[in-house]
Amino acid sequence: MRTLLIANWKMHYGPMKAGGWIRAFRRERLPKDLDIAVAVPHVSLAASRASLGRASIPALAAQDAFWAQDGAYTGEVSPGMLLEFGVQFCLVGHSERRIYLGETDEMVGKKAATLQAAGIVPVICVGENEAQLKKGEVSKVLKAQVAAAIASLKPDGKTPFVFAYEPVWSIGTGKPCPPQKAKEAHEIIRSAIQKKFGQSAAEHVRIIYGGSVDAHNISEYVTTTGVNGALVGGASLDPRAFALLCRTANPA
Ligand code: PEP
Repeated sequence: MRTLLIANWKMHYGPMKAGGWIRAFRRERLPKDLDIAVAVPHVSLAASRASLGRASIPALAAQDAFWAQDGAYTGEVSPGMLLEFGVQFCLVGHSERRIYLGETDEMVGKKAATLQAAGIVPVICVGENEAQLKKGEVSKVLKAQVAAAIASLKPDGKTPFVFAYEPVWSIGTGKPCPPQKAKEAHEIIRSAIQKKFGQSAAEHVRIIYGGSVDAHNISEYVTTTGVNGALVGGASLDPRAFALLCRTANPA
């Protein structure tokens, strides 16, 4: 399975700065054996696309999409609109959206299904918060989040789906989850997928880790069984640092 690395700019880099990041990143030596994507704010999709031209590395990703293709949903952006920019991946259910915007498991499931139906790979973010970790609820939380997210997904369509295990206590805190603990969480996610879609589907789903990943610790994750890549926030804001992270993930 190819390793997938996704840069998440979060709410950084509007259209004036996005092209510069893309051009600087593309000037770097980039490994060919990895899938690399960059999740940019909606308003920066056009500038990012323009800087990429026909180049496919990095793939373009969005940070969210609505669950309908059009209609009276002021302020929202549909998967069909994202496709016009050549978006291939889209984050859904990032914990920052769950926390600040009240996104529920049900909304995340609807978004994931609409994206997949439109031909964009949903990257579904799940993970426990600190209180849940302390109460020993990791398994319970992940099972509930995964079940809701995959309720309307198709296991064998031409568009796959990806999960990102992102423990909330680790995002942007400089406290990465120990790889062995991430491995256990990935196993819980994979077995929840297996229960609904069967062994073969579960084996083919990429589950990536996110939470304070940088060039120093990326190799620990990508060499951990069942961890198929990483979602990278803070350490992706500098294009050279993110390129170094990509090369470290795949030194070949
Ligand atoms: C994220 O934004 O999904 C993330 C993992 O952020 P950071 O790498 O900064 O912890």
